[in-house]
Amino acid sequence: PSVCIAIDGPAGAGKSTAAKMLASKLGYVYVDTGAMYRAVTYQALMDKINMDDTGALTQIAETIDLALKVDAGGRTRILIAGTDVTQQIRCPEVSNNVSLVSRIPGVRNVLTRLQRELAAQGSVVMEGRDIGTKVLPAADKKFFLTASVEERARRRFLELQQIGYQVKYDEVIQDIILRDEIDSNRALAPLKPAPDAVIVDCSGLTAEQVVDTLLSIVSG
Ligand code: C5P
Repeated sequence: PSVCIAIDGPAGAGKSTAAKMLASKLGYVYVDTGAMYRAVTYQALMDKINMDDTGALTQIAETIDLALKVDAGGRTRILIAGTDVTQQIRCPEVSNNVSLVSRIPGVRNVLTRLQRELAAQGSVVMEGRDIGTKVLPAADKKFFLTASVEERARRRFLELQQIGYQVKYDEVIQDIILRDEIDSNRALAPLKPAPDAVIVDCSGLTAEQVVDTLLSIVSG
């Protein structure tokens, strides 16, 4: 039978790295749900849609031809209509607008359905904001990863530099503070730990230490 592991938490807590490593150790599929919200946002920006046009944004979510693929190096690639947008969806403009798109119930309904379909295909480590609370409430294991805001900004800053974005630390910290606030206060599926989630404070831990912690809980 397939197994679902849910990993939620605020921006930059180290979810992606931990979720990817955990999935590879367990032989499960890694699903980055934030990338799906980012892809819808990217398409909306390309189409010059207003970020408060809920109808048009919902329609993009309903019609977008989205694919998550794993390349030869084991990295997840995000494709829209066959075009690789893995790099583009990390750009500051998408980051600055994604929380406005993800608060729209129509958008969430479509992507939640897609995420459940992915989980039904086999064992997954699914990462996001509402996986344990909404998408997979019956997940076998739920984690909520946190870290201090400074550490999360530092992590995000380094990640963005690594993939080739010249960003300022101050802008990154402002982005994650604002995004967390919108994500935590929206009406539908706000960012919060599921009652049965294990909360892991990743401050001061290396990625390996975080994964070891998660692994020991999963197999314990
Ligand atoms: O994980 P990442 O930082 O790439 O997520 C980008 C944004 O997507 C979040 O700030 C949030 O607004 C939205 N998101 C969401 N629900 C999820 C995953 C991401 O609302 N399950």
